[in-house]
Amino acid sequence: MSKKINFNLTRRSFLKLSGGAAALAGLSLPKGADAATDRQLATLIDLSLCDGCKDLQAPACVTACKTINKDKIPEVVDNIPEPWPRKTIEDWSKKKGVFNRLTPYNFIYIHKAQIEGKTIFVPRRCMHCDNPACATICPFSANHKEKNGAVVIEQNQCFGGAKCKDVCPWEIPQRQSGVGIYLHVLPGFMGNGVMYKCDLCDERLKQGKMPGCIEACPRKAMLIGPRRDIEKMADERARAMNGFIYGKTENGGTSTFYVSPVSFEQINKTMQKKPGQPDMKPDVKRRMAATDPLGKSVLAAPALGVIAAGVLNWFAGRKDQVKKEEKGND
Ligand code: SF4
Ligand code: SF4
Ligand code: SF4
Repeated sequence: MSKKINFNLTRRSFLKLSGGAAALAGLSLPKGADAATDRQLATLIDLSLCDGCKDLQAPACVTACKTINKDKIPEVVDNIPEPWPRKTIEDWSKKKGVFNRLTPYNFIYIHKAQIEGKTIFVPRRCMHCDNPACATICPFSANHKEKNGAVVIEQNQCFGGAKCKDVCPWEIPQRQSGVGIYLHVLPGFMGNGVMYKCDLCDERLKQGKMPGCIEACPRKAMLIGPRRDIEKMADERARAMNGFIYGKTENGGTSTFYVSPVSFEQINKTMQKKPGQPDMKPDVKRRMAATDPLGKSVLAAPALGVIAAGVLNWFAGRKDQVKKEEKGND
């Protein structure tokens, strides 16, 4: 039988939770939260506090993220090369305003679940996994985990092959075609753009600033701090609301802990899943656990060979072009 949900937090318990949260966030971030230290950060997302910013045109966290990342993607080329053999071009450059799903221009959205006549609002973005399969599989090492816990894609090294999306249990990374290094190597034969996702505002963290979405949340439904403190807080909140945690063990552990008064089985069952709107399957097994060292090396060799061929090809073409130009000038 399903547990009765209690969303009616008393004013006292809300203040206690949000006050504790502010203190934690304030205490923890500015010092020692960068990649130069071994201190890992984690985030807590408390579903009993998020109300989806119902009264706003778009949720505050989403707007903040969009503003911070608005110039991340360079101008997309006019004629996007058609990749071979699959001819799928993914172009979101004319739909930058979409905010109700993940796109290369939108790294966080609010997923809704209807349970017992109530709506649960679930902010979704990259979980920043402890052993991210997305980084393990990347043949170009464009994807890595920082010491502060952020999983970051280096956009100038990414070919947009989307393997990271295939192995991510939640299919988080999103592709924009017609941008990136592949345009200069073998467009049409290798690569198809660049993958984009939440990077935990890594640059801001390194400057001692809060991630934009967390700073903007009016209800302090999201918090960031040293991992040990956040994990402890997640446990305490889950206990206090007789609730549940998601993200602690999924995919071998992550640095994002969702706390909810209703089980994630129920949330997952009542979520509408569509492309760019991932589910919340509980007990997700760790992806690529057995193939960590293998994945990259097996994929890397052919990939590097093709890049080398592509670069040589590009230089050869360039040489011919220069010769022609020189002839024309004679
Ligand atoms: S996490 Fe905060 S900012 Fe985002 S929708 Fe929920 S209440 Fe609004
Ligand atoms: S959630 Fe997906 S994209 Fe994010 S770190 Fe984990 S495997 Fe990678
Ligand atoms: S941490 Fe930064 S990049 Fe990630 S969702 Fe929040 S604002 Fe966007």
